[in-house]
Amino acid sequence: MGLMSGKKGVIFGVANDKSIAWGIAQQLRAEGAELAFTYLNEALEKRVRPLAESLDSSLVLPCDVQNEDEIVAVFSELEKHWGKIDFVVHAIAFANREDLKQPFSQTSREGFRLALDVSAYSLVSLTRCALPVLNDGGSIVAMTYLGSVRSVPAYNVMGVAKAALESSVRYLAAELGERNIRVNAVSAGPIKTLAASGIGGFKEKLRVAEERAPLKRLVTQEDVGKSALYLLSDLSSGVTGEIHYVDGGFSTAAG
Ligand code: NAD
Repeated sequence: MGLMSGKKGVIFGVANDKSIAWGIAQQLRAEGAELAFTYLNEALEKRVRPLAESLDSSLVLPCDVQNEDEIVAVFSELEKHWGKIDFVVHAIAFANREDLKQPFSQTSREGFRLALDVSAYSLVSLTRCALPVLNDGGSIVAMTYLGSVRSVPAYNVMGVAKAALESSVRYLAAELGERNIRVNAVSAGPIKTLAASGIGGFKEKLRVAEERAPLKRLVTQEDVGKSALYLLSDLSSGVTGEIHYVDGGFSTAAG
């Protein structure tokens, strides 16, 4: 019996095998969870489908979180197949490349709206659509980064979006606690992924993190996956509204 035996859930945010969402999926499956996946567009579907199949999942659905109808369709499909579900993983973020390059004060109104919509509002929308099918004891986990609480060079509008995401985690946790549904976020140290490649000076962030983190190494997809597994499983039954740092101690214990 694995920690997640008998539990079913959906993972938003796999783009390829480097994605943090993929690290989470592997940990969940190893503990017996049944998984569904979403993909952003047809190009990514070609990558996500074989990955899903390798974890015995054939529930692979389209979802651009800017499109409310697609979100609704995901959860109605899950209800058709499974009835109820136990968890949701939100590992989605997007900002225009130019907004991560130019000075923060130059962020356009549209760029700000887009980053906040895809990276933060989507958690509210996914949660709302998930509620009718989430079991008592359900757990929702989102992915965040230190740039929400500190001004990290070049993180710019994405830091503002992560601050909104973390605040949304707390408000959702406060609202859903009485239904015994928990909402938390994992704040990961830098990991080389598709999304990270859009952040200016990312190599330098990796170097500094490795040098200054008490663990003296970068965190991996596996490290993050294991913490997400904890937050999605009954091991964390008393934990909600938490921003759980998985960065080798960089933000909490580095000198
Ligand atoms: P990734 O590129 O593998 O994942 C980002 C995902 O967002 C992709 O699957 C992409 O398809 C999806 N996405 C973008 N726009 C979307 C939309 N409109 N609708 C639906 N999906 C959309 O990169 P990642 O680093 O694994 O990112 C996953 C999460 O982890 C993000 O929230 C990111 O901010 C966060 N995070 C990453 C790091 C890091 O260093 N890589 C650190 C901390 C937090």
